[in-house]
Amino acid sequence: MISKANIPTRRQMLDALSAEPEFDVVVIGGGATGLGVAVDAASRGLRVALFEKNDFASGTSSKSTKLIHGGVRYLANPRNWGLIREALVERRTLLTNAPELVQPRQFVVPCYSRLKAFWYGAGLSLYSMFSGGGRGMGPVRYVDALGAVAMLPGLQRKKLKGALCYSDAQFDDAGLAVALYQTAVGYGAKVLNYMPVEEMLTDGRKVTECVARDSETGERYTVRARAYINCAGVWVDTIRRMVDVEVGNLVRVSRGSHVVVDGSFLPTENAMVVPKTSDGRVLFCIPWQGRTLIGTTDIEQGQAPFDPQPSSEEIDFMIENANRYLTRRIRRGDVRASFAGLRPLFAARKAGLNEGTAKLSRGYAVVPEFKNLLTVAGGKWTSYRAMAESALATAQQLELLQRSGCRTRSLPLVMENRAEAMALQQALLKSPVIDQQLGARLLAFVRLAATRMGARTAQDVLHRRLRLGQLDAVRTQALMPVVEEMLARVLEKKA
Ligand SMILES: Cc1cc2nc3c(=O)[nH]c(=O)nc-3n(C[C@H](O)[C@H](O)[C@H](O)COP(=O)(O)OP(=O)(O)OC[C@H]3O[C@@H](n4cnc5c(N)ncnc54)[C@H](O)[C@@H]3O)c2cc1C
Repeated sequence: MISKANIPTRRQMLDALSAEPEFDVVVIGGGATGLGVAVDAASRGLRVALFEKNDFASGTSSKSTKLIHGGVRYLANPRNWGLIREALVERRTLLTNAPELVQPRQFVVPCYSRLKAFWYGAGLSLYSMFSGGGRGMGPVRYVDALGAVAMLPGLQRKKLKGALCYSDAQFDDAGLAVALYQTAVGYGAKVLNYMPVEEMLTDGRKVTECVARDSETGERYTVRARAYINCAGVWVDTIRRMVDVEVGNLVRVSRGSHVVVDGSFLPTENAMVVPKTSDGRVLFCIPWQGRTLIGTTDIEQGQAPFDPQPSSEEIDFMIENANRYLTRRIRRGDVRASFAGLRPLFAARKAGLNEGTAKLSRGYAVVPEFKNLLTVAGGKWTSYRAMAESALATAQQLELLQRSGCRTRSLPLVMENRAEAMALQQALLKSPVIDQQLGARLLAFVRLAATRMGARTAQDVLHRRLRLGQLDAVRTQALMPVVEEMLARVLEKKA
């Protein structure tokens, strides 16, 4: 049974690890994939521990385009249709299970040629046919030029013929991660951030123990499990090499960046889709917490740094491509924030190692190795639940775990106090000074973030619990010392 009433403190979870270091499942990585696996396993009644090296969702999972979607740009290749269909089933599931965090949104594709309108219309009809509906999902429709401008005020009108409108979903990525954390912990899982896994010990055949270090105290914890599920995103191969230094790569890495500008550039509730950028990709301009989120790019990376940054060229590229469609030009100085994430692309030889990363599908695989290590490679946020179900099914097929039914298809996902978080976020953005009342609200939230949402640092609170970092970099920086001081007070009382 889930019990959100008692979210144990970090200390209590650590003490439980020392007292009972035996688990059914140990999950490595606390992004979308790992948290999804922890929820799936814990809701089946299994004993679960999850270790995250930094903060939950601080890797790729807070840096997405924030779409719960099948990916219209993958339609061109029929090989991707199965994947799109699965993602759209997941979209329907999430619209039902997490209504506060996942919202329907209209997407508008401006058309400057009737031939292109026909072509895009055919693709989008297929997309909507795959979807099987869901809350707020309507059919594809064509609107004329006047209708297009009504849907997208700020749209370039010269030679505009019309637009195609389709439904998709938008979500708060880090918010959903908090909901997954609270759900997993509610089912009794020990879910710990700032706990890098440093060693995977073997007896030559299988993994026998896993060692994680508490970054705050330096103390090391050794745990044992029937199945170890490696969900370390672009870092999965580093974990596999802790077991066998010889293994080759399962993932390739691609950087994708975003910029955030004022909502006044696209003053609407609808999102604009630039159907073909100068490098042949799709670019989204999406309303996001009162601002406009623009992205993304796709640049292959040989390495996976923890905190990737958008390059100057990427920022210019996104601005230039958005400006081709807007009446009011965005300039570099209008950028309020920018961020980059690293896509973990499943790239075993079969999946096409010779293709550029933009062409690699967002498919995923559960790869069993060394008897009891399962690596979940690739995928996307939208499919995290299906990926988790698939990982648990594989562990059962391998007889690492007993058969049990998956419960996540109809499991509600709620981030506690989200409405307060969003109201506080807007108040902090609008008010240049923190008066006594706003200070009291912020302190109350910092307390909630630390005691019920797993936040340990000011970055955790500002970037991933309040979502301010991706809306206004300067304001966030200014708030950092204030939140640091509040957090120090709160954590001293409740370690
Ligand atoms: C630019 C961009 C835009 C995207 N947009 C979308 C979108 O709109 N919709 C969508 O569905 N998907 C989108 N995606 C894909 C989606 O964001 C990712 O597939 C997903 O977030 C990956 O989650 P993950 O948990 O596998 O990886 P991560 O979120 O990176 O999590 C892996 C975690 O493992 C941890 N870790 C690493 N090493 C260790 C260790 N030794 N011990 C413990 N922990 C460790 C890391 O700290 C990290 O937090 C996008 C991706 C990018 C890059």
